[in-house]
Amino acid sequence: MNAHDSEKVIGTLVSQGYAQVPTVEEAELVFYNTCSIRDKAEQKVFHRLDQFKRDGKGKTFAVLGCVAQQEGEKIFEKAPHVRMVCGSASYNQLPQMLVQLESGNRRVTGLSLDTEDTFETPLTRRDNPHRAYITVIEGCDKSCAYCVVPFTRGPERSRTSASVIAESRQLAELGSTEIQLLGQNVNSYRDPSPAAWDFATLLDNVGRVPGIRRVRFTTSHPRDFVKQIVDAIDENPALCNHVHLPVQSGSTRVLEAMQRLYTRDQYMQRIAWMKSARRPIAITTDVIVGFPGETEADFEATLGLLDEVEYDSIFSFKYSRRPNTSALALDDHIAEEEKGRRLAILQEKQRQIQIRRNAAYVGVVEECLVEGFNKATGQWIGRTSQNKTLNFLHPVEDGDLTGRYVEARVTRAGPNSLAGEYVN
Ligand code: SAM
Ligand code: SF4
Repeated sequence: MNAHDSEKVIGTLVSQGYAQVPTVEEAELVFYNTCSIRDKAEQKVFHRLDQFKRDGKGKTFAVLGCVAQQEGEKIFEKAPHVRMVCGSASYNQLPQMLVQLESGNRRVTGLSLDTEDTFETPLTRRDNPHRAYITVIEGCDKSCAYCVVPFTRGPERSRTSASVIAESRQLAELGSTEIQLLGQNVNSYRDPSPAAWDFATLLDNVGRVPGIRRVRFTTSHPRDFVKQIVDAIDENPALCNHVHLPVQSGSTRVLEAMQRLYTRDQYMQRIAWMKSARRPIAITTDVIVGFPGETEADFEATLGLLDEVEYDSIFSFKYSRRPNTSALALDDHIAEEEKGRRLAILQEKQRQIQIRRNAAYVGVVEECLVEGFNKATGQWIGRTSQNKTLNFLHPVEDGDLTGRYVEARVTRAGPNSLAGEYVN
């Protein structure tokens, strides 16, 4: 989502007469887009700003994104060389803010979250000619006890279905064959126009745009994940065989403390819909270990859930304290060392699951969208509908396969990727 925000910001700047340069050294104006989801990401921002201060004499610096929204004008105190601070809910104000900056205002801010607008722009500067991102809903109306997003990205705002379909058509005409629909909770999408499409209807219709061969979406919230989404995947071949459905914990007690709005059983109901689908849907998730009060038994419940679901891959994190969040007030914060121990156990268990699951693909022929060529290994990098990386050999002299759909047979499998041979 941040990468796509940057594409939109770049497009807006270019439309104002600015030119993008390949390196920071060549830039007069440096925009730094930031993430504050965990403490580590935030620390990195201030470290980089310090580095920029030393290496960036004479340049103008702007901080964008979630750290900008969260820290606001405090950034000017911590990093006095920064002249502009702007959160994502204010990106549609960027042209006016740039005018203020150019006319000599020392400090310019865009920090209001009081908006009903989405940052829709026809000016997006997309780097990948084959895969395009479209934000369909911005912000988040949930209030998970650990999460900073509602404070940094504001309330939910959905785009009209007509504007999403029009953008998909335009992208297809420009040569994109894969579209990825984005939102913090993408499946909470509600069309604000009289058509009143829900997310499953939007997804199905994007998959019916001529020229679009693959549609992905991320991230789905389990509470709003309805069976119609699985039915749409079953019926529409353009929708990819992959759902990312963050669980966070396998313990209903912890889920309640996290204010996730579902129980383990309700989550497993959604998994059952996917497992009984006609198409083989790959399932991935996010897990947090060491949430305040998580007992050994709660952690064991999460390990048990991994065995039960057998995810294709997971993103796993140690709980990180975030400003403004309600979990800060909870007792029983877990020691860093213990969080690290649980994370290592969880990741090792998942690694074994992935080795087992991926081994089952040996001998199978998969359609891949070719993403590029890896000079170091001499292999082409393909992505399957299930979002697995499948590397394969094919003579470079026979032409550039990037952006093409090819079939490859899996001959080897590791925990994180597949390797195979070109079929056609
Ligand atoms: N909206 C999505 C959902 O509800 O599943 C998740 C969006 S969040 C940007 C991505 C992931 O970061 C979360 O699923 C969670 O696992 C992780 N995360 C968020 N806040 C965290 C925190 N305070 N500590 C550790 N991990 C966190
Ligand atoms: Fe954060 Fe929860 Fe909203 Fe996801 S649903 S962005 S985890 S508050």
